Amino acid sequence: MTGEQSDAFVFFGASGDLARKQIFPALHAMVAAGELDVPVVGVAHSGWSVEDLRARARESILETGGEDDEHLKSLLGLLQNVDGDYRDEQTFVSLRKALGDAARPAHYLAIPPSLFGTVVDGLRGVGLHENARVIVEKPFGRDLESALELNAVVSRAFPEDAIFRIDHYLGKDEIMNLLYFRFANSFLEPVWNRHHIDHVEITLAENFGVDGRGAFYESAGALRDVIENHVFQVVALLAMDPPAYQGYDAVQRSKEAVFRSMRPLKRDDLVRGQFVGYRDEQGVAADSDVETYAAVRLFIDSWRWAGVPWLLRTGKKLAVSAVEVKVYFKRPPQVLFDDAAANDEPNYLRFRLSPVSEIALAARVKTPGQEFTGTQRELLIHTESDRERAPYERLLAGAMAGERALFTASGSVEAAWRVVDDVLKDHDEALPYEPGSWGPAEADRLAAPYGGWRELDPDAASSPKHPATGIEPKEN
Ligand code: NDP
Repeated sequence: MTGEQSDAFVFFGASGDLARKQIFPALHAMVAAGELDVPVVGVAHSGWSVEDLRARARESILETGGEDDEHLKSLLGLLQNVDGDYRDEQTFVSLRKALGDAARPAHYLAIPPSLFGTVVDGLRGVGLHENARVIVEKPFGRDLESALELNAVVSRAFPEDAIFRIDHYLGKDEIMNLLYFRFANSFLEPVWNRHHIDHVEITLAENFGVDGRGAFYESAGALRDVIENHVFQVVALLAMDPPAYQGYDAVQRSKEAVFRSMRPLKRDDLVRGQFVGYRDEQGVAADSDVETYAAVRLFIDSWRWAGVPWLLRTGKKLAVSAVEVKVYFKRPPQVLFDDAAANDEPNYLRFRLSPVSEIALAARVKTPGQEFTGTQRELLIHTESDRERAPYERLLAGAMAGERALFTASGSVEAAWRVVDDVLKDHDEALPYEPGSWGPAEADRLAAPYGGWRELDPDAASSPKHPATGIEPKEN
């Protein structure tokens, strides 16, 4: 059924937290964009009627800034409810009945992964897997073994091209732009390799904590929750070879090759941290060793990237909330001007992915005057959109249309888990760090040989655009 539009949206977990925070608003936006006009069937076991489900949808949409408009009314009109336990086959018999004539449903599993198998088997039991798609929430496994198991469970009923594994990061415009920027331009490719690039630094920093989700976080941690999926996806988009042809398959193959050539992390490649106060959060063990910060030194053993370190870090309660990539170029082979101190920041290409979208190229330019001295300055592209499309809206609409480009393939998922699998089990203890800092000082040892971690400017360089060119030089 590749390419055909799904004719119903089945929503397991409709009474859950994710549904409330993200999914109802996304469905509302999809209706407004003309992308959703098929039955939406919620399945959960709260004892709800369809009116309760409608009330929750309305509440969720209004809470998240949506309007009480005609689109909300249309969405409420599309909603149906099936109340029942996923462990009970009767729930799936009722679902089948509720779906009526629908022949190509998309089943969205917004439920804990421990229930995936139960639901997949339930769907198969009543034939609802036929001509259907399944959209699976993150996390896809918690280590290599569980990811292999989940792939096996889901593929009991669905072929790979009907499985849509969500990493909502892939639905963000700034992330999609990494792929576009790299391959819609020709000037990067000649220098995008180990001959010209010294190292790459990626930071995904959050200035907030676990926001009441301590119990969930205890089973995850920063390495699982952010590095292995979101940050690795960014690495793959930056490191992949050009797709050999246009289309989903080619992109997936190139990305998968990156995951496969990532060198499995060793204990020494990882520094774990935990913010002071984490253990007082609700649902967190008093002696928890779960990391709320992780810094990683990764190597990609490929022809293109051999020997280039990728320094990755993420954390909660850090100094700022921001996501940034800096790709550092090698220094000129000879020092011809006395002003460039060896410890100055080398030239770089910078992608600010959040909270604003920027691309900057930093280069040294001469200061006017007699002397051959200068400073490093940025050529900056700052992009703004009137209405950023929420990732879930883009992803769910994409899955309903059978567009696989923004989803992860089984081979990539397994290869990515393989990279972190050893250090998930064998690691040093999480070191305490103060909220509002940049994490434990021990993380400096990973970046020290390459000039150390660079602090992120909390406001980015989002200075007003140059009126004529949109490019503005900025003092660094
Ligand atoms: P919740 O625990 O809030 O919701 C779980 C949902 O599953 C509820 O609707 C619950 O129904 C239903 N459910 C659970 N067991 C059964 C059962 N035996 N029979 C019928 N219904 C059942 O989970 P979240 O919404 O937080 O998370 C869902 C998924 O999304 C998880 O995989 C999570 O990792 C992922 N995710 C969540 C995020 C978030 O911010 N919450 C962010 C990113 C991913 P009922 O209410 O009736 O019990």
